[in-house]
Amino acid sequence: MQQIGFIGLGRMGNPMASNLCKKGFELLVYDVNPRAIAAFGQLNAEPATSIADIARACDIVITMLPSSAQVEAVVLGAQGLLAHGRAGQLILDMSTIDPNTTDLLAERASPKGISVVDAPVGRLASHADRGESLFMVGASAEDFERVLPLLRAMGTTIHHCGKVGAGMRTKLVNNYLAIVSCQLNAEALALAQRFGLDLEKTLEVIDGTTAFNGQLRMNWPTKVLKGDISAGFTIDLAHKDLSLILDAANKAKVPMPVAAAAREMFSAARAGRYAQSDFSAMIDVLCDLAAIEKPRLAASGIQTPTARE
Ligand code: NAD
Repeated sequence: MQQIGFIGLGRMGNPMASNLCKKGFELLVYDVNPRAIAAFGQLNAEPATSIADIARACDIVITMLPSSAQVEAVVLGAQGLLAHGRAGQLILDMSTIDPNTTDLLAERASPKGISVVDAPVGRLASHADRGESLFMVGASAEDFERVLPLLRAMGTTIHHCGKVGAGMRTKLVNNYLAIVSCQLNAEALALAQRFGLDLEKTLEVIDGTTAFNGQLRMNWPTKVLKGDISAGFTIDLAHKDLSLILDAANKAKVPMPVAAAAREMFSAARAGRYAQSDFSAMIDVLCDLAAIEKPRLAASGIQTPTARE
């Protein structure tokens, strides 16, 4: 069996690595935060003492890190995966990062005979917990086949989007819509609150028109609207993604005025006490600003028809 390394055991990395262990893969795991390693504790996993240990021992190394800077440090750093790796290895980066960084990693890894695959993750942290994630993969045909058993152990939907970097670019397009939806929902529901409308009735109406969106269907009814703003996906990480999206759009000369406005609302939110809250908490940020009562479904509240599915 191939030895698998897993670096980054945070909100997403922890359940993804757990699902690999549960499906029989043996992992060497590492996180810069010792508490994340201590919290992991799966039978099929050994903690590594450094990234160099992982590079020396593993055939495939998965990275699930916050952003480009951490992935660059782990892969390209003096004590990183390329410095201590060997030909035939594969680095599977599942973080959401700048696609130009993905291209750079692949360019630097290629002369060493090391492959790079990008497979950022779609859907929510709760899907990752259940092994029901969606993956957007950028890889050669051969490397795609090599990572497929790992992806199947962590998710249910796997898209081969094209060559290296295509997964990351698809993820930015996807996250633009998902994150901006949170800002749109926040504005719409704050207005509904100010109008004094019934929340459940309003959601039921929207659910029957073209106005409904994936955040209202899959995230809000079980998170902020139930009063749970603990992070699935933090406002801080959503701000990071909007910044990646705007940088990429600027380079490609694509104007995205709505993304720019939304990014600044997330900038304001992450500067305050909501930085580590779930991105659905953008409604609470707006309600605080405008002195509006926060919308909440009753504990036994009626869920919107689609949320029940
Ligand atoms: P997180 O902050 O919970 O976890 C990141 C982990 O990486 C932490 O445990 C941290 O200690 C570790 N880390 C940071 N720098 C490191 C380094 N140099 N070496 C080793 N470990 C290091 O973040 P998350 O929510 O798990 O997200 C991870 C990535 O997945 C991000 O790019 C995010 O945008 C993306 N993502 C998140 C979600 C979600 O719902 N949370 C969904 C899809 C994609």
